[in-house]
Amino acid sequence: MKVFKFGGASVNSAEAVRNMARIVQHHLAGEPLAVVVSAMGKTTNDLEALARQDYGSEQWGAFYDKIEQYHRGIACELLPGGEEVQQRIGNLLAHLADLCRTRSSRHEDDAQFSASIVVHGEILSTNIIHAYLSSLGIRCRLTNALEYIQTQAGSYSDARVDWQRTLVAVRHMWNEGKDCDVVLAQGFIASPDGGVHPCTLGREGSDYTASILAYCLDAESVTIWKDVPGFLNADPKYFPDTIKIEQIPYNEAIELAYYGASVIHPKTVKPIQNKGIPLYIRSFITPEGEGSSVGNYHTIKPETPLYIFRNNQILLSILPRDFSFIAEDNLEYIFGRLNALGIRVNLMQNSALSFSICVDHDEQRIAQLMEDLSSRFQVRYNDNLQLVTIRYYTQTVIDSIVAGRKVLLEQRSRSTEQIVVQRN
Ligand code: ASP
Ligand code: MG
Repeated sequence: MKVFKFGGASVNSAEAVRNMARIVQHHLAGEPLAVVVSAMGKTTNDLEALARQDYGSEQWGAFYDKIEQYHRGIACELLPGGEEVQQRIGNLLAHLADLCRTRSSRHEDDAQFSASIVVHGEILSTNIIHAYLSSLGIRCRLTNALEYIQTQAGSYSDARVDWQRTLVAVRHMWNEGKDCDVVLAQGFIASPDGGVHPCTLGREGSDYTASILAYCLDAESVTIWKDVPGFLNADPKYFPDTIKIEQIPYNEAIELAYYGASVIHPKTVKPIQNKGIPLYIRSFITPEGEGSSVGNYHTIKPETPLYIFRNNQILLSILPRDFSFIAEDNLEYIFGRLNALGIRVNLMQNSALSFSICVDHDEQRIAQLMEDLSSRFQVRYNDNLQLVTIRYYTQTVIDSIVAGRKVLLEQRSRSTEQIVVQRN
């Protein structure tokens, strides 16, 4: 069996859903196809925003209406007169509103509450897509990922998979869908207890869901349908002349995702690598194109420098106030705070007297970090920076990136150059 994954951009309008359905139809074979879908367009952002508003406030109402109109509009275009699907959407939205209304009495903390709201994006999208695929005569089974993507308790926004329980539950789910064409699953959403407490696998986590299903079901392949022709050597937003990488070794894909290449979610590759399942990245805009494949290769093909740009970076220099050295005890304290605040270090460097880290500039978290560190350390910072990672660099390539810009930090290994530069 094969696993297909469609992200938010591939289902962000009625026309996009029709296109996605054509791709699915084209690939129907004798056995069921597992189709993982994200929330439509930017719905997850809207749901996160909704969860932050006070129930009944004007802003709350504005986000709620936006979410309702968007989904009803797409469903209405796809299925004119489709009362059943509108009824479904109505029920899901009523449940969403109810959760917001009764918030304080039911949820221990913000992350738990936010997860219970955010999962509605994928639930809405799969309900609409299920209705539409069924209307085309595709035998489509809608499953509930909250029941089979099982997680360890402890995190609601970036949960860890409980592999043993998930394996059993996914296989059970699959056996029940044997006689259909498509088994439809929500990406991103999961639960430690079969759906009583919904959680998520982290933003952009739908790729990971596809990989989990592929692992559990020993899939033949995973295909991620994107709005780019494949895995490019740079984000086309920053580079006019990108090169498509045809073949990528698993480990290279893991490294690139780790450094911040946004094409694949970082956790996606490991499970399928363990089983040697190939991962294809193809374009939903030009679905006939070849795309890129991640698999058991020795090197990337073609061999060319790869660029990863991370914007909105802040560089913190942390100096002990008591003139002690940056040694294990100080580092332990700093990393303890970073871990507690969920701040990921993109690059670090230390000297005897100061420790520098480059991190994403999440204003709330960084302000909290600085406050936490202030009793023991003096913290200096530079913001509005860019972190550029170049795999397989050459000096010419580095020169062209830094030309005319101030370099604040540089680190080089045999294969990778990382530079923190002022944005131009
Ligand atoms: N809908 C989720 C998000 O926007 C998951 C995903 O798109 O993969 O983060
Ligand atoms: Mg997405």
